[in-house]
Amino acid sequence: MKVYADNAATTKTSEAAVQAMMPYFSTIYGNPSSLHSDGQRAKEALESARASVAKHLGCTPREIYFTSGGTEADNMAIRSAAFFGARKNKRHIISTAFEHHAVLHTLAKLEKEGFEVTLLDVGETGTVSAQQVKDAIRPDTALVTVMFANNEIGSILPIREIGKVCKEAGVVFHTDAVQAAGHLPINVVEDNIDMLSLSGHKFHGPRGVGAMYIRKGLPPVNIMEGGAQERGKRPGTENLPGIMGMAKALDEACAHMDENIRKVTALRDKLIAGISEIPHCVLNGDPVNRLPGNVSFCFEGIEGESLLLLLDSKGISASSGSACTSGSLDPSHVLLAIGRPHEIAHGSLRLSLCEENTEEEMDHIIVSVKEVVQYLRNISPVWRDLTTGKRQFITKE
Ligand SMILES: *Cc1c(COP(=O)(O)O)cnc(C)c1O
Repeated sequence: MKVYADNAATTKTSEAAVQAMMPYFSTIYGNPSSLHSDGQRAKEALESARASVAKHLGCTPREIYFTSGGTEADNMAIRSAAFFGARKNKRHIISTAFEHHAVLHTLAKLEKEGFEVTLLDVGETGTVSAQQVKDAIRPDTALVTVMFANNEIGSILPIREIGKVCKEAGVVFHTDAVQAAGHLPINVVEDNIDMLSLSGHKFHGPRGVGAMYIRKGLPPVNIMEGGAQERGKRPGTENLPGIMGMAKALDEACAHMDENIRKVTALRDKLIAGISEIPHCVLNGDPVNRLPGNVSFCFEGIEGESLLLLLDSKGISASSGSACTSGSLDPSHVLLAIGRPHEIAHGSLRLSLCEENTEEEMDHIIVSVKEVVQYLRNISPVWRDLTTGKRQFITKE
């Protein structure tokens, strides 16, 4: 059986999204900046996609900028707010310790450029409260950037409440909603969001295309220089097929959101219940307030990498943390941020589901994870030390 359970890393592009892209390779291939009718047809399509994305976020089309993905949208949003703040001598930024690297590394760069960054503690369940944000806001705070939902452990943050605190304090609020867009209801007005990042390939759109929402009145800042596309703020000929595919995928995801949430949550809870039967493992993230498709565990006495390879040999595609950190030997910054000790942070497994997964697949995953964990523990010197009492268990049986 072949099971794809790595939807937080990327998703299969839906058939509808692929179909929506096709004409823009072969028939409507004009450059949207061209004045001739081929160009104008492309321009119309581009603007219809912008209107559609805007509608699903509850903003106006002029507040949407298309980008190359979530990473670029994060960079652009954060740089825009930093630039805006610096003009008023505000150089303090608040974020959390478990953001995606697209946010954390941008903030690290800004620190070298003279900004001061406060990373809020996310506690064991992986969240921050509006009160924590409120307490951290200073007169010189230029930006609060807090993710909508975490990509590794799935916890959903109190975005509306955090946005409210920011609004009351007059501080710009950005959220990396890459894991939430198309999966959870979002309305930037009701949720008090000034800036938001999303990415097509996390909701069955194509890879390499995303969008940034920036509230009217906040100036977007270029991170590249070039032509007049995206009102001069994001130069470069538009990836029209990608944009059309993303808009279609978002349309579909929003149209089926309630049923997808119901279906995927049931699969997730079945998987969590099955895997929880394994002794000495611990669920990461909030048990209830979590993304419908996210399952994340740490197992004591094993290495996540070996677990992944053996699961792959059983046809299961999973992840040990985020795709961006796999391949490095450091444990995930997210697992360390929620206080998992190094020993168990190394034994992590993330399974991320979508509405195309089935109950039979969940059964196959549960049986396989049980087998593989037992096999790895049987050959692990660490596990022997744990079971003979030479080392203390960290997790409960
Ligand atoms: C995937 C992801 C990103 C990066 O998006 P890309 O489109 O791959 O650049 C940023 N933030 C989060 C939370 C993500 O899951």
